[in-house]
Amino acid sequence: MEIEINLAEPEKRKVSQFEELPFGKIFTPHMFIMKYEENKGWHSPKIQPFSNIELHPAAIVLHYSQTVFEGLKAYYGIDGKIRLFRVWDHIARLNRSAERLCIPQVDPEFVFKAIKTLILIDKDWIPKKKGSALYIRPLIFATQPNLGLKISSEYLFIIILSPVGAYYKEGFNPVKIYVTTEYIRACPGGTGEVKTGGNYAASLKAQELAQKKGYTQVLWLDAKEKKYVEEVGSMNIFFYFDNELATPALTGSILPGITRDSVLKLAPQLGIPTKERRISIDEIIESIENKTLKECFGTGTAAVISPVGEICYKDKSYIINEGKTGELTRKLFEYITGIQYGEKEDPFNWTV
Ligand code: PMP
Repeated sequence: MEIEINLAEPEKRKVSQFEELPFGKIFTPHMFIMKYEENKGWHSPKIQPFSNIELHPAAIVLHYSQTVFEGLKAYYGIDGKIRLFRVWDHIARLNRSAERLCIPQVDPEFVFKAIKTLILIDKDWIPKKKGSALYIRPLIFATQPNLGLKISSEYLFIIILSPVGAYYKEGFNPVKIYVTTEYIRACPGGTGEVKTGGNYAASLKAQELAQKKGYTQVLWLDAKEKKYVEEVGSMNIFFYFDNELATPALTGSILPGITRDSVLKLAPQLGIPTKERRISIDEIIESIENKTLKECFGTGTAAVISPVGEICYKDKSYIINEGKTGELTRKLFEYITGIQYGEKEDPFNWTV
């Protein structure tokens, strides 16, 4: 399929200079948009000036959340090259999410072409400072007007781009997290292992509560026993015990994070064995108390690695590694960002 390209006015294409780049508030001048209709399949792909979209008030997505999305980044390297990190894995996950939500599959090669074409048109909007990047948000949602619950016969696939600043403006400092025993994020057989809006809407209440109590993120436990650790906020979680870097095994209610997978593959290169297994909150508390838990961090595209310095469980606070960022946490952060910005060798050919 050929992508029809309709460029914005030169005035609108001029790169604005921003003092700060708050996450996801500034957008580039163009967007990609493509339609799906049952009898036509995906058709009429376009890159056009960024604009609002029109939706029928009965569009299925607005009522029943039939929607999926992805989040990945393009980095401006120290060599002036633009790199996408694990783009094919993000596209594959978009299709896995779509499959779960009964949304038609998209052709990975075509999605790659759409992302690449759009980025090259707006390439001057990729911030150049190390740590900053161009955030890429592909999304697909059900547009058929229909108040009865059904699988939509019409969809829109959109890609928007947002320049984002360094996540750690005030330094690479640990966050405090709150274990919720009241709410759950996802359950086996549910949609927790894919990226769909409903998961995030359902997480807001617990996040609000954690913030009211003075914590940054929620630590989610499993739905059945409320005993096993699953994720932190919208990140995967790692625990560095005596000589093992462990993360919860993918049980069906955890999002298979691409940064998670990157850490699992890179840590052994630093001589650290990794393990995917069940990790109970009791084991965590015990290992903090007897000092066998050395470090803890979250992983995700937005922050890459987010050190955790304090965990609150049943109204008691536990400090990890004296509340400081650990050495392995820092090394992994530097290793991954080094690959993303072209400073370090890319042993798994993750960048394109
Ligand atoms: N868990 C959830 C619920 C998420 O939304 C994300 C962000 N995509 C992650 C984990 C981390 O995934 P990734 O490393 O692929 O960004």
